[in-house]
Amino acid sequence: MSVRVRFAPSPTGPLHMGGVRTALYNYLFARKHGGQFLLRIEDTDRTRYVPGAEDYIRESLAWCGLVPDESPWVGGPDGPYRQSDRQQLYKAYAEELIAKDRAYYAFDTPEELEAMRARLQAAGVAAPAYNAVTREHMKNSLTLSADEVKERLARGEQYVVRLKVPRHAEVRFEDIIRGWVVVHSANIDDKVLFKSDGMPTYHLANIVDDHLMRITHVIRGEEWLPSAPLHVLIYEAFGWERPAFAHLPLILKPDGNGKLSKRDGDRLGFPVFALDWIDPVSKEKSSGYREKGYYPEAFINMLALLGWNPGTDQEIMSLAELTELFDLSRVHKGGAKFDPEKTKWFNQQYLRARPDVELGEQLMDRLKARGVVTTLEKATHAATLLKERATFVDDMLEGMYLFVEGSPLKGNATAEEELRKRWKPEAAPVLEAYVDALAQLSSFKGTDLEPVFTGVLQERGMKVGQVMPIYRLFVAGRMQGPGMFDVSALLGKEEVIARLRAGLEHCAAWV
Ligand code: GLU
Repeated sequence: MSVRVRFAPSPTGPLHMGGVRTALYNYLFARKHGGQFLLRIEDTDRTRYVPGAEDYIRESLAWCGLVPDESPWVGGPDGPYRQSDRQQLYKAYAEELIAKDRAYYAFDTPEELEAMRARLQAAGVAAPAYNAVTREHMKNSLTLSADEVKERLARGEQYVVRLKVPRHAEVRFEDIIRGWVVVHSANIDDKVLFKSDGMPTYHLANIVDDHLMRITHVIRGEEWLPSAPLHVLIYEAFGWERPAFAHLPLILKPDGNGKLSKRDGDRLGFPVFALDWIDPVSKEKSSGYREKGYYPEAFINMLALLGWNPGTDQEIMSLAELTELFDLSRVHKGGAKFDPEKTKWFNQQYLRARPDVELGEQLMDRLKARGVVTTLEKATHAATLLKERATFVDDMLEGMYLFVEGSPLKGNATAEEELRKRWKPEAAPVLEAYVDALAQLSSFKGTDLEPVFTGVLQERGMKVGQVMPIYRLFVAGRMQGPGMFDVSALLGKEEVIARLRAGLEHCAAWV
């Protein structure tokens, strides 16, 4: 039987990175086994529906390269793939369970349900539930006569259909990640499956659809583990073979204390969503990895390792490599701590691996947007030097001084401050001699400059550490950056000499 898995998000807001990881693991599992990866929109709860969320889910997955084989957008043999478009089919399944005596109609009003809860609470029951014991005292098709039930239905009275959970049964299933899960049915209440407004609840729609869509493995977040025994009971009630279950570990806050939430991202300054999201009601903006400048490959690589590892130290893996290596049995049970610094590290690795000319083009575009014109050759050369210190393409803009003519000391308070700390009058003659020597050079490569610099230092008995920072501040206007000989070669002879002279003049009066 061919593997068929699904990602089944509810369009209740932007897709959290935990959701993207669930989609990723489903995708990898399907690809690894030559199966299909489906996407089903679970939108039966109209009260939680958020406009734009479905498009957001689609765009997020497309950005990550996780395009489903079957979905509301491309269709497929088992469609429609949006539950609101399947609404008509669920009622017959609720009725099937009633006919099999595995579900029943319940007519209790909200007041009656409240009274039941209050009664049980007064009697010391901690968590009152509509279950195998309490249903005996409520208004449902198990306690009312068949005629009365028929009459109520004919009158159009409001009802719900509840699952008839057996009173004494052990529900057991083997989760691929967690092993055996055993729950006594006394701990499961008679969940509502269907309502008289024609809408199924999540539980019924989810099981019916997984069955009709021939899903073989349900891979989803740990938050659904408590529902799994109920789902096992629903499969049994229908007499259907059920899919295998794999419940993924939670993604935890960086300190490991609890589930990672949007608030942690806001507080600690990292995105928890794939893309930017603007709440349609509050207009509040949440930032996304895409807009922050992350490569989707880096984001996916990082997510893959949040809860799984290949059993080796390998960390950098493409989607194709992940597909080859992925194995559900290596997914751990324990929560996976999210590490924002490590996430940046992944991006840095992917940035470094990009072709220099591509980075050069991107740097050139960004410079152009700031009114700075350069050649692709120069931008690519600069990218080669700057990428070592960059996490994002935008970080390379810190090399702006490579493209703007003139002394970088002008109006540069930070450089001025640094220079005041490092300036030594003895450095002046060294740099003057260096300027003179540079003027003589016919070849101006980084490797040509280094011996010249060390030569003049030696002649005057100065150390690199005494003069280099001043050289750097004069030419680059900053303490960090690529090596000064490479920077100087890129700037060219005239510009370097001009900047050194301007610097010397700037400090001439300092003692
Ligand atoms: N609609 C559920 C969700 O939003 C799907 C749970 C499942 O995969 O069964 O997460």
